[in-house]
Amino acid sequence: MPAIWHPFTQHGLGEPIPRIVRGEGACLLTDDGRRILDGISSWWVNTHGHCHPRIMAAIREQSEKLDQMIFAGWTHEPAERLAGELGEFLPGELSHIFFSDSGSTAVEVALKMALGLWHNRGHPRHRIIVMQHSYHGDTFGGMSVGERGAFNRAYERLLFDVAPIPFPGEGDTLGALEALLANRADPPAALIVEPLVLGAGGMKMYAPELIAGMAALCRAHGVPFILDEVMTGWGRTGSCFAFEQAEIVPDIVCLSKGITGGAVPLAVTACTRPFFDAHYSADKADMFFHSSSYTANPIACAAACANLSIWRDEPVMERIGHIAARHAGFRETAASLGALRNLRQCGTILAMELEAGGGGQDYLSGHGPALQRFFMDRDLLLRPLGNCIYVMPPYCVSDADLDKIYQAIADAADAFG
Ligand code: PMP
Repeated sequence: MPAIWHPFTQHGLGEPIPRIVRGEGACLLTDDGRRILDGISSWWVNTHGHCHPRIMAAIREQSEKLDQMIFAGWTHEPAERLAGELGEFLPGELSHIFFSDSGSTAVEVALKMALGLWHNRGHPRHRIIVMQHSYHGDTFGGMSVGERGAFNRAYERLLFDVAPIPFPGEGDTLGALEALLANRADPPAALIVEPLVLGAGGMKMYAPELIAGMAALCRAHGVPFILDEVMTGWGRTGSCFAFEQAEIVPDIVCLSKGITGGAVPLAVTACTRPFFDAHYSADKADMFFHSSSYTANPIACAAACANLSIWRDEPVMERIGHIAARHAGFRETAASLGALRNLRQCGTILAMELEAGGGGQDYLSGHGPALQRFFMDRDLLLRPLGNCIYVMPPYCVSDADLDKIYQAIADAADAFG
């Protein structure tokens, strides 16, 4: 029997790999009867919790009608329904929807839309501006526009060159952006950023005003502004999409994870009209050359429609507001725990650094694995990024569950600090 090779897992450390048999709301149930509280929504995916009945019913129902079909030159009802309903959530300027199946592919599609626009207009551009510390996925395009480091060291020579701007507070973000946008010798093709929170780069947070500033500069120079809302989308930052807080509309937005409530894989890259128009002609050579076999999988689209109905009919924003208020309360208490530094929050995302003696602070040298084990021993799924402990619960999480998470973090501060 072939052995399973797990992602982002060092099998050589011999860490236990728990076996999950059920998902119920905010919890995962193991085969030996443990109830694990999922404090990070299983990699930020399960927004409403596991096995939401409405999403499960939609999947069941759709699976009896149409499972999968080619989407090149063909269409189906769940995709059309989803595109229509997404129109109620996205600003009208984002007039075109391209489906794919993961956050990484949503990013690849966004980059190719921007590069294709310049190519088809007869003025090819190749330089992408990125923000320091970013993460946009593990495909080669995604790695190229992401921070160079532990995640991609082995592949670095093959990644394409990008133009980084400093993370806000670590340099003059807008000044650096303006200089790159004004470069006539090598004009940029696009700017891509994660709005408000840089996730895998260490849950680094910055103000909405910076997003508004970047959008204004990009508009002034006619350069597409791409937002990767793969993590921040679907309520994570306290609004449905992070760009709402900056009161701007990006030229392209990448969505995945919570688009199906986290039940099945699906992604959407939504763009404004010029990207579609640049690929629209009577010449086949101008078309958008991107697809994957599972583009707009009908079952995934049906699950996404069920997710939107939950957003419409259930008090999702109230749940998000409640979690945000609870996090804020914990931040006050935790500030007195000496070992926890830089307590920060954006909506339902709470993050902090454990200042522990010895060891470095980065992803590889920090206390991540030991902390993870510490939390697992308390039936809690948290997966610190090095010494950065963060919480990103499903919105169905109870007060008692949140208290359990906060207590475990306080205990970790005691044990490791
Ligand atoms: N962009 C961001 C901001 C992400 O957080 C992630 C995944 N964590 C991705 C892209 C890649 O998404 P996926 O893992 O679904 O390919």
